[in-house]
Amino acid sequence: MAKCASAQEKKSVIVEAYADAPLPTRRGTFQIRVFREPGSGLEHLALTLGDVRRPEGILARVHSECLTSEVFGSLKCDCRDQLDLALDRIAEAGAGVLVYLRQEGRGIGLGNKVRAYALQAQGADTFEANRRLGFPDDLRRYDVAAEILCQLEVGPIDLMTNNPRKVEELRAHGLSIRSRVPAPGAVTPHNHAYLTAKKRRHGHLIDI
Ligand SMILES: [Zn+2]
Repeated sequence: MAKCASAQEKKSVIVEAYADAPLPTRRGTFQIRVFREPGSGLEHLALTLGDVRRPEGILARVHSECLTSEVFGSLKCDCRDQLDLALDRIAEAGAGVLVYLRQEGRGIGLGNKVRAYALQAQGADTFEANRRLGFPDDLRRYDVAAEILCQLEVGPIDLMTNNPRKVEELRAHGLSIRSRVPAPGAVTPHNHAYLTAKKRRHGHLIDI
């Protein structure tokens, strides 16, 4: 089990547990827990199922919000597929956690993500589009996710992700990640370029 650094050790609190309730879903009744960043008031959440502290370990996914695919069914990325797959697998396993981070568009926000889509419609790939808008490739940060998992006192983690950087960053924050579980999504004509760019530029482990 990861040992959470105390607020004093960290100099400031990254995230505080704020609310906690049962959430019946079509996959079963999860516990929904909301965590707040004290400075910004930004709210992240964790959906847990079963005993996440069990020493034999749990399935986990750290997922960044994607309004366009998760709510509206956009085919430009594989976020919704990955979210659905993670929740299916956790439900099948009977225990696990999904940490849902409110960092839309790799951290650049919804409006800028849609501006990047406009550039992509003119031929730029996802990374070129971000750069032309003045953003680095990926502003996502995982210290919040690490802190949430730590506060949940999770056992050893089997992390569902195609992104090796995510595994490294969470380990660097002290989490015990036992294995990486591939999280394949559907490849479509609309997301092919996006997935290819993730694979080529950032070493995501995806079969295309
Ligand atoms: Zn997406």
